[in-house]
Amino acid sequence: MTSLQPGDTIGILGGGQLGRMMALAAARYGLHVHIYDPEGAPPAAEVSAQQTRASYTDETALKAFARACDVITYEFENIPRESLDILQNLATLRPDIASLETSQDRLIEKRFLEDLGLAVAPYAPVDRSDDIAAAHEALGRETILKTRRLGYDGKGQASLKGDEDCFAAWRSIGEKSAVLETRVPFIAEISAIIVRAGNGTAASYDIPVNTHKSGILDTSAVGCFTDFKVPADLARQAQTAAIRIADALGHVGVLTAEFFVTETHALLVNEIAPRVHNSGHWTMDACLCDQFDNHVRAIAGWPLGSTDRHSDALMTNLIGEDENRYDQFLSASDVQVHLYGKTEARKGRKMGHITQIAPR
Ligand code: AMP
Repeated sequence: MTSLQPGDTIGILGGGQLGRMMALAAARYGLHVHIYDPEGAPPAAEVSAQQTRASYTDETALKAFARACDVITYEFENIPRESLDILQNLATLRPDIASLETSQDRLIEKRFLEDLGLAVAPYAPVDRSDDIAAAHEALGRETILKTRRLGYDGKGQASLKGDEDCFAAWRSIGEKSAVLETRVPFIAEISAIIVRAGNGTAASYDIPVNTHKSGILDTSAVGCFTDFKVPADLARQAQTAAIRIADALGHVGVLTAEFFVTETHALLVNEIAPRVHNSGHWTMDACLCDQFDNHVRAIAGWPLGSTDRHSDALMTNLIGEDENRYDQFLSASDVQVHLYGKTEARKGRKMGHITQIAPR
């Protein structure tokens, strides 16, 4: 695998906050960043050397972008397959198509996880509204319908309880191919954030405990900031599972696996993200080398950095109007503030995050 030199260019597909934090990490290492995003001046472009503003299906723009970059990575997984083929023919894509294809489709992802021997919530594929009633019954009558593709932060999902109208749920997700899964009575949600280098070496961060509001991540906590203490064997099990997933995909870069912890301390994989993840933002303030640093190192073909944690941490997302309280957070001596430079504080939009730390 070829390695980058300082001064080389990393291309990032997607210009949101994850791309922005990747770009800031790349800048630390003297690398240039070129953002590809259909929007004008997205958060990542503000801190990057260059932006191509074009649609993800613009073949001419994709080819020019590929030729201008030494390696291409991405901050979200819903990039069309044909576009990935164009890029992969002309440039090095890290992580490559296998990681994206598997995580773009919930059904493919669940089957892949089961093939690896990992447990997921009981589920059934749904292709028509007529499929739902029987599956809902078989799955325990408390279920969630999720579109196979393009769902995130609770979007493209509908909850079903008891005898609810299956057709209404089907309509609410846009009548798209879906999976119906049992609503898991979990005692905690955790995630494993790991990084894998091209030579197969991998490293794991400590396991955060995550809470959600309206399907959107609210907090991620490690150490003294969480009441649920992840038992050491469970943490190891989650980290090992995430590394097995990355190995099976030949993944290069950061990968995140989200899990439900059941009452009996069994782990069920909720979903995987073949990238840096919101539940890993605390690493920016609590680790020597954070998830963005390590992603850049991995895709650059460089040695991985330490994933050790020097502080306990509580990351809280600033959603919508929460951002307006930034000056209050700035006054706290144990809090770091991260704002993404988004102009419009729409409801449900991730505007920034704060991390409270306590040195260990
Ligand atoms: P997702 O977009 O699939 O990650 O779902 C967002 C959030 O909804 C998860 O982090 C959970 O809090 C909740 N959720 C999703 N699927 C389930 C499930 N099968 N059982 C219980 N809660 C779920």
